[in-house]
Amino acid sequence: MMGKLGFVKILVIAAEAGRVTRKYPYEPPLVSSDFRGKIEIDETKCIGCGSCVLACPPNALVMSDEGEGYRVLKYFVGRCIFCWRCIDVCPVDAIKGTREFELATDNVEDLDEAVIHKRASCTECNGLYSTVKQKAYVMEKAPITENYVDKCPECRRNKLLRAFEKRRGGESLE
Ligand code: SF4
Ligand code: SF4
Repeated sequence: MMGKLGFVKILVIAAEAGRVTRKYPYEPPLVSSDFRGKIEIDETKCIGCGSCVLACPPNALVMSDEGEGYRVLKYFVGRCIFCWRCIDVCPVDAIKGTREFELATDNVEDLDEAVIHKRASCTECNGLYSTVKQKAYVMEKAPITENYVDKCPECRRNKLLRAFEKRRGGESLE
């Protein structure tokens, strides 16, 4: 059992420390610098590659093809566990983490964000594939000829097979 002296000691320590709690929400909360909150996607940087979708554990990020030639990246913050894996995998640094955590709302639509991309069309079969921005990114970065990147995966594969056939027959590659 605590004696009178022990009690006085605790009072002295508490008096020296001062108030250690905050009157949140009447004053701003203390949020540490490494706190992980909701993410923000910069739609001017996003190329619609889908890497973040594959990396997201709770499917807070999803991608779907919609309408006539659009690919939409959706972020549903209600599912987000703030792990920030998406930030690590984005090839163009389009995602940044914030320290925002006060996300309660009475309108579920407030929890949805979307980035809309135009899809690229294949120069061979006119089919839609990838996105215009991803195609431009690949053309700039990847060691793949313009001949190939302009085509959908199926036409690219067929073109490659035709090239192999030609090479086998002694003709030069396209
Ligand atoms: S922070 Fe984690 S859970 Fe949230 S969108 Fe990114 S990968 Fe998904
Ligand atoms: S990984 Fe980055 S560029 Fe790719 S879809 Fe996600 S936000 Fe966009």
